[in-house]
Amino acid sequence: MKGDETMAGTGGGEPGGMPLERLLGAEADGDDQAVESALRPRDLEEFVGQTRVREQLDLVLRAARARGATADHVLLSGAPGLGKTTLSMIIAAEMGAPIRITSGPAIQHAGDLAAILSSLTEGEVLFLDEIHRMSRPAEEMLYMAMEDFRVDVIVGKGPGATAIPLELPPFTLVGATTRAGLLPPPLRDRFGFTGHMEFYEPAELEQVVHRSARLLNVEVEPEGAAEIAGRSRGTPRIANRLLRRVRDYAQVRADGRITREIAASALQVYEVDGRGLDRLDRAVLEALLRLFGGGPVGLSTLAVAVSEERETVEEVAEPFLVREGLLARTPRGRVATPAAWAHLGLEPPERSGGGGGAGQPELFES
Ligand code: ADP
Repeated sequence: MKGDETMAGTGGGEPGGMPLERLLGAEADGDDQAVESALRPRDLEEFVGQTRVREQLDLVLRAARARGATADHVLLSGAPGLGKTTLSMIIAAEMGAPIRITSGPAIQHAGDLAAILSSLTEGEVLFLDEIHRMSRPAEEMLYMAMEDFRVDVIVGKGPGATAIPLELPPFTLVGATTRAGLLPPPLRDRFGFTGHMEFYEPAELEQVVHRSARLLNVEVEPEGAAEIAGRSRGTPRIANRLLRRVRDYAQVRADGRITREIAASALQVYEVDGRGLDRLDRAVLEALLRLFGGGPVGLSTLAVAVSEERETVEEVAEPFLVREGLLARTPRGRVATPAAWAHLGLEPPERSGGGGGAGQPELFES
């Protein structure tokens, strides 16, 4: 491995020190950013999957165009790498408008936001990624800007401070968040349309792989694309990243063509298993099964067993394991499901007299 998959720290100071290299991380890394712009679908037609959001958005945009108006503000929620930035660019393209891209953490002060808003042109799309991480004063300024296309700029300090109203041209805010539930209701209510992005089906990811392979000039057989899609955790960004790694392997070890065998061998080299688990995911599962008999075991104990920070296990490995139905969070600790035993090819231990077995975890959201 050439060590080219360093994460750019887009999560912005998450606690606990995330691992620096992760082939299956859904956040964009430096390498992704260079290639992604070439792979982004340019219009709704090209955008794979998300049928419902695409159809709804198509109506919103068509209606706005027919009225000759600026499109309503749009909120996109969903996990990283599912296409929120791509959709915001498509919205701008479909409206024939320019786009400005920024993010919640980049806006520390209300003044930062005022500077951006006051420089927008009529109809411009403002993409605000991680909108739930904006500062409170900036958020309050945004309420007024979204509703009345106006901001109050505060001049001076203390008792002599005055608010000078500033008119803004109509614009379209596209907010993106990984968790819509984190947004204060007054902010959520100011969006005319909210689209929830789902994880992609394997067949949709196959389409993404075929499309990207075409753009990257790589030959991929249908079975090769299926192999990559099945290990991409429902996420186009990961599918594109795995495709690039498999392409490297195919060039160096074969004739460049991606067959099922080539994809499987390449991903074995990168320690991505058939279900899309990487080394950390498997280490967590193995510890849970082999050391703790499938649980229940506390998160901290599990983290020590795999020599990782608690937060890394909780935020990096667990969400996917839970989503895959391999691990359950219960009030008494982490528990492996029967599918976890099957996935690692291990026999679950016989439990005497039932009660607290791994098979019936109580569901518990921590
Ligand atoms: P997000 O903003 O949700 O993190 P992005 O919009 O940056 O995700 O998407 C990551 C990459 O995945 C993009 O470069 C794009 O190439 C690809 N992608 C995302 N959604 C789709 C899609 N529906 N069809 C094809 N490619 C997609």
